[in-house]
Amino acid sequence: MKRIFSGVKPTGHLTLGNYLGAVRRWADVDQHRADALFCIVDLHALTVDHDPGRVRRLSRQAATLLLASGLDPRLCTVFVQSHVDEHARLSYLLECVATDGEMRRMIQYKEKAARERERGGSVRLSLLTYPVLMAADILAYGTDEVPVGDDQTQHVELTRDLAVRFNQRYGHTFAVPRATHPEVAARVMNLQDPTSKMGKSDDAGPGVVYLLDEPDVMRKKIMRAVTDSGQDVVHDREERPGVSNLLEILAACEGTDPQTLSGSYQSYGALKKDTAEAVVELLRPLRERHRELCADPSYVEGVLRDGAARAREMARPRVDSAYRAIGL
Ligand code: ADP
Repeated sequence: MKRIFSGVKPTGHLTLGNYLGAVRRWADVDQHRADALFCIVDLHALTVDHDPGRVRRLSRQAATLLLASGLDPRLCTVFVQSHVDEHARLSYLLECVATDGEMRRMIQYKEKAARERERGGSVRLSLLTYPVLMAADILAYGTDEVPVGDDQTQHVELTRDLAVRFNQRYGHTFAVPRATHPEVAARVMNLQDPTSKMGKSDDAGPGVVYLLDEPDVMRKKIMRAVTDSGQDVVHDREERPGVSNLLEILAACEGTDPQTLSGSYQSYGALKKDTAEAVVELLRPLRERHRELCADPSYVEGVLRDGAARAREMARPRVDSAYRAIGL
């Protein structure tokens, strides 16, 4: 059976981008067709300035939201990264295979480091090495597929390179995984700045729709989305990024494609209204289930405990053999 691994970072509240780009597919498709693991990657949340209590709260909230989205612990494994030591153990070995040059070429590193410096802050070494930890997350499980949004393509490419390099130097140890992306909404853009992606760690602005926003807040954010000069509703990411973003969100909600959809709209206003309603409806069951799960924290606790035990068992033999192969 195919092995699937993917994760989400507890650096903020989960967004519509996380849901359409990744989580929805994990629940609707991936957990049914493979042996799948979904991880709250809390070690990655330490790569930037953070509040310890907030990281813990957000990890729990992310786990609750994954379950509310339909991940079923009878079908897949849901766990927290720091509960399984194998991730950090393997990360160090992979640091001995990666080069500093390839780390410095990572686009996300360049962008986040520049932002950190602009704020007058210092850049943590872990921000540079975090793609190696991500490679360890994936390779520890013999992963075949990594379902992610577009923004993670470069990191999965690096993971493939490290797996191949390790195997060539030290003998076959890791499967070489590939990234998969949703057909529509693989990169949901910020509603106020449709040239940059909707990210959960951005300042909680009106451009980001959070899964736990109240329906009226979601409606307001979408109705106020920046559109483009011009009147006609066309899907063109370069020339009309704002309208294209709305078309993609609506298409993803309705299971259709943005080109077909563009023909049915004469005005931006009508498109925004339908998009707002479609998003609110799509997320309604998730919000209700989230409320129920919050009333039963020991259930979520139990899922994470069992998930970590299962994940540990799956990862340990492969990480142990990587230690032997590299000469320890
Ligand atoms: P974030 O950038 O919100 O911190 P994470 O690194 O936690 O996201 O990513 C969790 C998953 O959500 C990844 O598969 C990532 O590719 C996907 N994702 C994040 N933002 C978006 C977006 N704006 N559009 C589509 N997918 C996204």
